[in-house]
Amino acid sequence: MEGDKPSTVMCRVVAMDPRNFCYSVCSACERTLAHPENSSSGPSICKFCDFKAFNPGSSGSKRLYRILLSVASETKVFVVICFDRAARVLFGCSADEFFHFAKLNPFAAVTAGKVLEGEMFRMTLSKPKNGNAQHLRVASVVPLSSGFCPAIETLRKLYGVGAGAGAGPS
Ligand SMILES: [Zn+2]
Repeated sequence: MEGDKPSTVMCRVVAMDPRNFCYSVCSACERTLAHPENSSSGPSICKFCDFKAFNPGSSGSKRLYRILLSVASETKVFVVICFDRAARVLFGCSADEFFHFAKLNPFAAVTAGKVLEGEMFRMTLSKPKNGNAQHLRVASVVPLSSGFCPAIETLRKLYGVGAGAGAGPS
């Protein structure tokens, strides 16, 4: 069928899973940190670099996006996984920024999903290298609407924060 080469499809976002939109990695080596979000026992530490030992005062971790999107192509509806680089196009900010925004605005992730719903994108999808991964991953994403507004911009307008920051509508 599609082979192992990345394929490019036009698709529309049907839904976004707002529950786990990011994960923590070591800010030095970007390995996934074992502890999930909101562990109140303090930031997890990378066992490979022991980052804190070299950078006291730094948390040693940062967040990257990992978003499950349900998308519809001409012929089918399927789930893709969107990692940091592609997700930034959709969200318009880093996962850390969005995480903090979502802390202040608890429904931000849900609303972001609603904002992206129905948007058309040209997505380059690749087969996961990891045989256990079940979803195609989004290698790149290009909005098809010239009026596309990254989710965070729409959210800032909705919630009335950060007005005037970033690019305004043309
Ligand atoms: Zn590390």
